Amino acid sequence: MTANSLQELYAEQLQDLYSAEQQIIKALPKMIEAAQSEELRNALNEHLEVTRTQASRIETICEELGEDPENEKCKGMEGVLKEGSDLVKEMSEPVRDAAMIAAAQRVEHYEMAGYGTARTYASLLGYDEAASLLEQTLEEEKEADQTLSGLAEELNVEALEAGGQGTGEEAEHATSRGERAKKSGTRGKRAA
Ligand code: FE
Ligand code: ZN
Ligand code: FE
Repeated sequence: MTANSLQELYAEQLQDLYSAEQQIIKALPKMIEAAQSEELRNALNEHLEVTRTQASRIETICEELGEDPENEKCKGMEGVLKEGSDLVKEMSEPVRDAAMIAAAQRVEHYEMAGYGTARTYASLLGYDEAASLLEQTLEEEKEADQTLSGLAEELNVEALEAGGQGTGEEAEHATSRGERAKKSGTRGKRAA
């Protein structure tokens, strides 16, 4: 598609995001199945539900614009997801969960970039309702990213302890950090 107005670029960006969300909806069940940590599985499951809502928001916005949401293939998300699934396949437990978080956070950041842009275009073009829907999704992606960071605090340490690499001193240091995180209860709060 050749776009020569911000309006057209906006529509293209919405379609790209729609394709990204559809690909995520397809990929998440496989990730959930492969996840070892129950907390990670729950977080991914919750985000799957949220993702379905996010896709339907784009349908609503496109309908009002008179655009077909299914007009693009997000090649970026295709690559991010492919790299993630290849990485996860290469890793065995419990490093696999850490690899999954690494992959999932790339997905969230890619989405955050797209939603920030689309939200700004919507505001500039005077689509206030669409702008606030896109802002809502942007906030959800940020929340998902933070939840993953919280889970990583524990699961990265488990991966570290399982591997024979690194010095003992490093492992000990990381373990005490992990223990502290558990005791302070940040884990439960972040995962909520
Ligand atoms: Fe999303
Ligand atoms: Zn894309
Ligand atoms: Fe997301």
